[in-house]
Amino acid sequence: MSEKYNPQVIEQKWQQKWAADGLNRAVVDKTKEKHYAMTMYPYPSGDLHIGHWYPMAPSDTRARWMRMKGYNVLFPMGFDSFGLPAENAAIKRGIHPKAWTYANIERMRGQLRSMGPMFDWEREVITSDPSYYKWSQWFFLKLYDMGLAYKTLSPVDFCPHCNTTLAREQVWGEDRHCERCGTPVIKKELNQWFFKITAYADQLLDFSHLNWPERVHAMQKNWIGRSEGAEVIFKTEVGGHEIPIFTTRPDTLWGATFMVLAPEHPLVAELTSAAQRAEVETYVTQATRQTEIDRLATDKEKTGVFIGAYAINPVNNERISIWIADYVLMTYGTGAIMAVPSGDERDFAFAQKYNLPIPVVVAPKDWDGQPFIEAYTEPGRLVNSGLFNGYATIGKYSLDEWTPELAEQYSLPANLNLETEARHAVTRWLEQQGIGKFAVTYRLRDWLISRQRYWGCPIPMITCPTCGIVSVPYEDLPVELPEDVQFMPTGESPLKFHEGFRHVKCPQCGSENAERETDTMDTFMCSSWYQYAYMDPHWKDGQPLSRNDIPFNPNEGNYWLPVDQYTGGIEHATMHLLYTRFFTKAMHDMGLVPFDEPMNALFNQGIILGDDREKMSKSRGNVVSPDDLVQAYGADTVRGYLMFGFRWDQGGPWDSKGILGVQRFLERVWDLVMSEARRRGGEQRSRGAGEASAAQLRNLRRKQHQAIRRVTKDIEDFSFNTMVAGLMEYTNALSAARAAAPTLVNHPAWAEAIRTLVLLLAPGFPHIAEELWAQLGQPYSVHQQSWPTWDEELAKEDVVEIAVQVNGKVRDKIEVPTEIAEEEAKAKALATDGVQRYLEGKTPAKVIYVSGRLVNIVVK
Ligand SMILES: [Zn+2]
Ligand SMILES: [Zn+2]
Repeated sequence: MSEKYNPQVIEQKWQQKWAADGLNRAVVDKTKEKHYAMTMYPYPSGDLHIGHWYPMAPSDTRARWMRMKGYNVLFPMGFDSFGLPAENAAIKRGIHPKAWTYANIERMRGQLRSMGPMFDWEREVITSDPSYYKWSQWFFLKLYDMGLAYKTLSPVDFCPHCNTTLAREQVWGEDRHCERCGTPVIKKELNQWFFKITAYADQLLDFSHLNWPERVHAMQKNWIGRSEGAEVIFKTEVGGHEIPIFTTRPDTLWGATFMVLAPEHPLVAELTSAAQRAEVETYVTQATRQTEIDRLATDKEKTGVFIGAYAINPVNNERISIWIADYVLMTYGTGAIMAVPSGDERDFAFAQKYNLPIPVVVAPKDWDGQPFIEAYTEPGRLVNSGLFNGYATIGKYSLDEWTPELAEQYSLPANLNLETEARHAVTRWLEQQGIGKFAVTYRLRDWLISRQRYWGCPIPMITCPTCGIVSVPYEDLPVELPEDVQFMPTGESPLKFHEGFRHVKCPQCGSENAERETDTMDTFMCSSWYQYAYMDPHWKDGQPLSRNDIPFNPNEGNYWLPVDQYTGGIEHATMHLLYTRFFTKAMHDMGLVPFDEPMNALFNQGIILGDDREKMSKSRGNVVSPDDLVQAYGADTVRGYLMFGFRWDQGGPWDSKGILGVQRFLERVWDLVMSEARRRGGEQRSRGAGEASAAQLRNLRRKQHQAIRRVTKDIEDFSFNTMVAGLMEYTNALSAARAAAPTLVNHPAWAEAIRTLVLLLAPGFPHIAEELWAQLGQPYSVHQQSWPTWDEELAKEDVVEIAVQVNGKVRDKIEVPTEIAEEEAKAKALATDGVQRYLEGKTPAKVIYVSGRLVNIVVK
């Protein structure tokens, strides 16, 4: 029997046994309640660092805990293996992206296994495997069949360095640089595939069935950016061109004294007068050179140019001037706005600068009839607004938000409704007049999924000179990615230059002149449905697919789905976490799943930084390698430090010294439990005579039940640092109890307390727990034991009432735990009202504590 804790030996041993026994296989068992736990799968970048372990070790701890609580737990792992870095490596180092990717997967798989997680490796998914991506293509075809995939010419952000288009989410920072390489992006017009995520905008705003962090709800809500208002048609004075605008404040239409078009608006060239042409053209050129961020910057002075044309305000037939300004974007709304300077700060500044009229239309309660010196955007009463004069407007508030308090604040009626509130009443009137209608706009754009890249999932579409765009037939999937391609940084996919791939027979008319789509899919497409692929990654391998297929084994799916607990980073809030919700809603509409949210619960962990407080990266040289740490300390210690050293939801900088504390803790646990194992084995009898006292036994049980309660609650709350602290305290309490009463170990309660320690240890420290459990002669496996439960009565602190005296006279009484330390008892006594009254600010000469009975304070 090994005397010293030797993690390198026991971890290898148990990992091999678990694998051989299939201990972590998740098998459908309808007699048990299921728990589908999932943590975000990694990209196989080849440099797995401790930051990759940080989300996984605590997720594994919680999944293991759920298993001990009696759930049938599925906790899978896979690799998000398509993507740019593989292709960059190919261009830079001449390695084929596939070879690079699969070598990295092989290495990372070994690294992940060394941590001892309960991943069911038989369910591993690799998104670049044809057996996986044939289903990504199948989903593409289904979305296309449903009218949710379409191709259109569209200006896209383009990274000149990576030579690829980027999704809006992949453009970062004020200077709008490429997420991958930092190069500022440029605009390019390309024919692209989009998914119509906007069709689900309203459904995506419903978070009622999700137990997700409020922060993620807020970020998605803001990203979707729904606003209600009205679409109103303005007509040009000459030519009668219709210019639709969207406004959230139709009640202020009478105050619109000019309108502003985006410089790119298609009518600008036609409407511009000869006199204004030169100035307008110069302005358009400089505006299109700027980035959207620059154009929308709030601190930037607003500029614009009159184009020499007029429009008619449809509510009062007033003639208003038409301007262009760079702060109006063609990509948002209709590319045209009505400007109401008295009700909008930006329009106010613009009108002042260019001497445009600023009539008041919403009057605050104490308005003196004078012109405004700044815009007024709050609720008030309409003036100068034709037949709506006198109507109350609640401004930016909704009728639901309109409270009696607000009504009082603005001196407006509290009981407003669709007929009496100006914004609503005007919208109905516009509809009756046929000049406008209720409308909703979203900030959310459709999801651009085309990438001009090789290492991605081929888009299963064909263009035929006769038939136009044609789908690849379902039974021809997968469209396999050819391996023999040339990597040239041309800005176009290498597939475009692969004649064998590109040329294809039209599946509809048989023409020999059809061509395959040579763009590949955004990798977020692959990760939108991977939770379903885990059901059975080799479901229908080798069989032809059909339109009516199900992309996962229904026996598995009916049992495991949806995901019960997902863990991952908040940085995915408006990308992956939105896309996978969209996918699940579309799958619901395809009749594939009975639910419409992919993951019931979500927890976001923080990020672990290098010891220099910077994000870990190879280039910074601050990467901590998990392999070296496992070599030096063992996986359990590394897992323990990742949980103990940080608040999981926050993360923080790595501290190499902190790990030693966890190492010493596990050594103490080892010594404590092994001495019990030896005692059981008859190697050592405890010395000392007599039985442990009832109070000592009660104390032992109390510590045990308190530890169970605390560790249980901490794991439930994802509070892994306090979980480890609780285990440390319990270990110390056991050592202290044994030191105070050596014969305690002869009592069965001691053996139970020790077994409890090992059980509580098991989720977080799976190897040492398994070893100690075996050393205690308990049945394999500790991970299949029931999680211990606590008894509130036993966990309760014993309390006693003690007298508080001043100069020998009882002046107060306090209730304290029986075990209270002397200093704590004295402090509590001194703080009582009774004592304070008699002290009158004086410092006591002496304080005496008689354990469990009284505190006497001597004052001179
Ligand atoms: Zn780039
Ligand atoms: Zn054809």
